[in-house]
Amino acid sequence: MPDAKYVYLFPEGNKDQKDLLGGKGANLAEMTNLGLPVPPGFTITTEACNAYIQAGNEFPAGLLDQVRDALKKVERETGKGFGDPKNPLLVSVRSGAKFSMPGMMDTILDLGLNDETLEGLIAKTGDKRFSYDSLRRFIMMFGDIVLEIERTKFDQIFDEAKEQAGVATDAEMPAGALLDVASRFRELVKSETGDPFPEDPLQQLELAIRAVFNSWDNQRAKHYRRIEKIPDDLGTAVNVQTMVFGNMGDDSGSGVAFTRDPVSGDPEIWGEYLANAQGEDVVAGIRTPTPIAAFKDSAKELYDEFAEISNKLDRHYRDAMDMEFTIEQGKLYMLQCRVGKRSSRSAVVIAVDMMHEGLITKEEALQRVEPERLDELLHPQVDPHIKTVPITDLGANAEKAATATPDLIFTVPAGRLERVKSANALPDSAVIASGGERTIAAMPLADWDALGTDQRDALLENAEFLEIARGLAASPGAAAGTAVFDPDTAHERGRNGEDVILVRQETSPDDIHGMQAAQAILTQRGGMSSHAALVARGFGIPCVAGCEQITVDEAARSMSVGGLTISEDQTITVDGSTGAVLLGKVPTVAPDLFPKLTELLGWADEVRKLGVRTNADNPPDAAKAIEFGAEGIGLCRTEHMFFEQDRLPVVREMILSAAEAKSLESAVAELESAVRGASGASRAAMEERLSDLKGSLEGPMGRYRGSLEKLLPVQQGDFEEIFRVMEGRPVTIRLIDPPMHEFLPDHDELLETVTRLRATGKDGAELREKEAMLHEVERLRETNPMLGLRGCRLGILYPEVNEMQVRAIFGAAAAVAKEGKEVHPEIMIPLIGFDEELAQLRELLERVAQETLQEAGVDVPYLFGTMIELPRAALTAGKIAAQAQFFSFGTNDLTQTTLGLSRDDAEASFLTHYMEKGILRDNPFDTIDQEGVGQLVTQAVKAGRATRPDLKIGICGEHGGDPRSVHFFHEAGLDYVSCSPFRVPIARLAAAHAALEDRT
Ligand code: PEP
Ligand code: MG
Repeated sequence: MPDAKYVYLFPEGNKDQKDLLGGKGANLAEMTNLGLPVPPGFTITTEACNAYIQAGNEFPAGLLDQVRDALKKVERETGKGFGDPKNPLLVSVRSGAKFSMPGMMDTILDLGLNDETLEGLIAKTGDKRFSYDSLRRFIMMFGDIVLEIERTKFDQIFDEAKEQAGVATDAEMPAGALLDVASRFRELVKSETGDPFPEDPLQQLELAIRAVFNSWDNQRAKHYRRIEKIPDDLGTAVNVQTMVFGNMGDDSGSGVAFTRDPVSGDPEIWGEYLANAQGEDVVAGIRTPTPIAAFKDSAKELYDEFAEISNKLDRHYRDAMDMEFTIEQGKLYMLQCRVGKRSSRSAVVIAVDMMHEGLITKEEALQRVEPERLDELLHPQVDPHIKTVPITDLGANAEKAATATPDLIFTVPAGRLERVKSANALPDSAVIASGGERTIAAMPLADWDALGTDQRDALLENAEFLEIARGLAASPGAAAGTAVFDPDTAHERGRNGEDVILVRQETSPDDIHGMQAAQAILTQRGGMSSHAALVARGFGIPCVAGCEQITVDEAARSMSVGGLTISEDQTITVDGSTGAVLLGKVPTVAPDLFPKLTELLGWADEVRKLGVRTNADNPPDAAKAIEFGAEGIGLCRTEHMFFEQDRLPVVREMILSAAEAKSLESAVAELESAVRGASGASRAAMEERLSDLKGSLEGPMGRYRGSLEKLLPVQQGDFEEIFRVMEGRPVTIRLIDPPMHEFLPDHDELLETVTRLRATGKDGAELREKEAMLHEVERLRETNPMLGLRGCRLGILYPEVNEMQVRAIFGAAAAVAKEGKEVHPEIMIPLIGFDEELAQLRELLERVAQETLQEAGVDVPYLFGTMIELPRAALTAGKIAAQAQFFSFGTNDLTQTTLGLSRDDAEASFLTHYMEKGILRDNPFDTIDQEGVGQLVTQAVKAGRATRPDLKIGICGEHGGDPRSVHFFHEAGLDYVSCSPFRVPIARLAAAHAALEDRT
């Protein structure tokens, strides 16, 4: 049997062979066949890599022969010889898996160099310095990547040599010194490995191929694959390509470009270029490159040639491409192209533009944008009204500002101080330095939140926030957090829920775990295509790169700017949309939909089958959700209205008197039945006790009913506002759900206060009041409140509360209906486990609804339904549907109770370990557990509809905004999902993706 074909010359492949040739290889083949200037070369297949790994790191039979054959053909094409001392062919060796894995695999340049071929290179180029530098680079890369000698050992030698030569930069090193460095590198290799540096080009190539194959399984590649969910058995291809040199003087250079702007999505070529540099220098972020637009002026012809290639690729691939190119002494070469990574905003803009340009269909445009990516667009942006001032302008006060700890740090110029003061917008406690030109102030976020709208406006209008520096706007959005200077700390603290900003000189693949846990990335060096920028855009987190005004001292865990030091633990804000880095937290604003996103979401609405509603408890949230395209409210949690400052005391009074009234009420009922069975003297005594008992019931019962009466108009007002905002869209209102103790003061805090008061013996009245409260709190305390007296159980025990809520809902519905507006209330009962619970509540509450509407003299259509959030409810859904016109799956509780996992406890303790150990693939509170909880959902849908074919079914747990869960709910045949306002666009797009997948 002949050996399998393991090696493909570039003209033998095409772009659809990514599985076999890897992304890079397939695209090099495609570009070659498009007639673009690609240096000749060949690709060793992923199958060869897999065969190598399976054989325990042995090359498959025939591979090396095929490599030699391919080399011969490349030699013929280039007219050079591999190992030829007169006219040497040098190659680059690059990995290239099916999916692009930025920075994960290592590249070797200038392979084929040794003392003999060096002479040929000198003869050919006439440039000794360049040739020696190439040798030096090659030995270092090869030593680091293939021979696995620590990179720092090479750096140390090179740094010493620079010092000896008395130069500061690589570029200033004289030729002789570079040759000397190369021989010291060789000595290092000998002493580290025990063997001389391999001088035979074929041996070098063989070792390099091995190293690429081995790198498929290195730690950082594995980590990246785990994060990106890339299977481990794809293997990597190896690309061997004729070297072209971007470092042959000022008419040479290397660059990275995109066919469209990867940040804004604008249809203009975007790129960066480094003169006299190799491609690796651009990506590694060692020097900050210049925009390609400059190159347009200095070399117009070349630019035009490049622009033509760019447009050709954009149209050919029907997608925005990322290209790497090199110019060798004025001649352009294309080294790579692939579908470009882009910001979420540009993903939307490019998809919509390409549809209008006739390159793709609406369906393709929708599929081009992953729903998760919209999340980034729906995150806060720095408030556009804020003003900034460079921190270095503060003079002597800068130090004070830089060491202040509260969240918001700003300055108010002397001329504006009065205005802020007269608006009462600057608490005295905030001032940390006053007098002179500026007042410096710092306040905790809570103080800012406590300011009224007018006060905030006054502050924003007059205050100036402190800009530390400005770099490249490399990945949009704004985030604040604690500055952290190493990836391990970022990983550790980020995982514990802290907001951290990873600040580095530049990032490398070894930093991935820290980058993943950070809210944003800030780097001192590197351009828009640096590792930091690419990874941040991929993760959808803000990034400011190439921020050269700052000096990051990673060892000292600090950064400095203009003589000022900002240390670890200071809060900073990174604005990846403008490139600004600010001190402290900066006020942010909720994002708005931009026109192209609105257009794309409109296309999503045309294809999706699932409805999308929102979870909203107040009119502003409801209004925002409508703006984002919500078609109704799927969950209005009424208890949130009880928590507001002015209502809480009434709610507490209601709860405390309810408990007392209820226990007295049952004592009265018991005594009444005892009286009926008694006679004579004992009956008389009982009657007397009964009358006393009834007397003592009056007080608590009066307070209970009285507080409900106080709450009624307030709740009614809330609902009226919501109905008005919703303009006739359905509004599902859930009756009170949480355990009562949630409305009362915290038990431990109360106990502490009581103990303190007892010890000091100070204020008798306060102590008595707190003791009474503590007593009640203890009475209502439960060991496991999530499974205790909550949900419909409260409604069964305290029907008066549910009655009040239903009266408020229908009172509001009637009032708004009388204004001539449509209203569609849907009453939803939580935590049903037994159909009888629902039957009893329904009888009572529908009566109240009817009465209220009759009193108001209007008819309002309404539905009565339930949440399905206990396994028993799901299992008996057929019976429950007899009592319910709709179901809404409460997948938060359904997940807790099906998995027997307390959300709060599990997420804080063992859930991440379960994911790390592979027991769970996803957090089941984020993405629905299809196998378990999903089965209950599917079964309940079927049973519910069997009883009541027109049963309306939705879901209102957190999963309603998770794309993969939305997919599942589409398949399960639900009518709608309901999620928080900011996730409504995500759900719309995810529902469209699910519907489109059905078609294929
Ligand atoms: C649920 O359990 O899924 C739900 C929406 O209710 P809550 O989160 O308020 O318990
Ligand atoms: Mg619930």
